[in-house]
Amino acid sequence: MQCHNGIMDTPRPVPITVTFSQELTPRTRRITFEGPVVIDTSHPASYLSLYFSDPGSDWQEGKSTAAPPKRTYTPRYLLPECDSMTIDFVLHGEGRATQWAHTARAGDVIWAGHVTGGYDVPDDLSHLVLVGDDTAIPAIGTVVEAIPDGTRTTVIIEVIDEDDERDPSDVVPCDPIWLHRGTDVTDVGDQMLNLVRSITVPPSAYWWLAGEREAILAVRDYLVTTRHVPRDRIAAAAYWRIIPLDPRLRER
Ligand SMILES: Cc1cc2nc3c(=O)[nH]c(=O)nc-3n(C[C@H](O)[C@H](O)[C@H](O)COP(=O)(O)OP(=O)(O)OC[C@H]3O[C@@H](n4cnc5c(N)ncnc54)[C@H](O)[C@@H]3O)c2cc1C
Repeated sequence: MQCHNGIMDTPRPVPITVTFSQELTPRTRRITFEGPVVIDTSHPASYLSLYFSDPGSDWQEGKSTAAPPKRTYTPRYLLPECDSMTIDFVLHGEGRATQWAHTARAGDVIWAGHVTGGYDVPDDLSHLVLVGDDTAIPAIGTVVEAIPDGTRTTVIIEVIDEDDERDPSDVVPCDPIWLHRGTDVTDVGDQMLNLVRSITVPPSAYWWLAGEREAILAVRDYLVTTRHVPRDRIAAAAYWRIIPLDPRLRER
């Protein structure tokens, strides 16, 4: 935290510059940045805010504290010694971040908040079930790479179709169960919940869930109320919302 005139506020984001952009799948762009990103955590599935500010805006010039639109993303790779960070952007249609990622080129600048949060890997982890959608693939990759060798994993990922399938990690095979929801956004999470209902895992298993808000809440509620999984064995995060928010709120 920084203190200006006695008022505490969040640290100012830093500018980061695109060095490389490549298509991973028809709906995913991998973008690598260079810049002095501040890292506050060593947990996998950490995240940061990206700020989409027009060049020369009052905020960039430090003349305004009203922050531009921001979105949350997972740093898939972080190399602080090289000031390098890589993010995999799902291109889902409309949206400030998606539109930006579509056209991002080397030299483009956006702003990054601190890398924070993430999954606090339990000490007694022996089996981890990871359930997510396309936005969670980068985080799943960081989790399977961070958990102890020998941990059993069950990985369930819901995407639009087989074009979106890609291994979460190049170094730790996790053989995901792929689910295809199709392009109708109202079907998000249906197959995920059905699959979770059908699988058997040891009662000692931990669960990590991330994806569309209502889909993740439905899976978590099922686990708690029907499977009686203790809440402290479930880490659940809403990564996006199917219901569009009031546009005035979106620009916060
Ligand atoms: C902790 C965390 C980590 C995340 N990590 C990643 C990541 O690594 N990669 C990644 O791609 N996303 C990630 N997300 C999700 C990402 O922040 C959201 O998808 C975000 O809404 C995208 O912003 P946008 O400007 O493109 O769309 P918005 O302006 O936020 O939304 C525009 C419209 O698109 C819809 N929408 C938003 N996201 C999606 C989607 N994924 N699929 C379909 N429709 C959508 C909304 O309902 C809305 O109607 C993460 C989110 C969190 C909270």
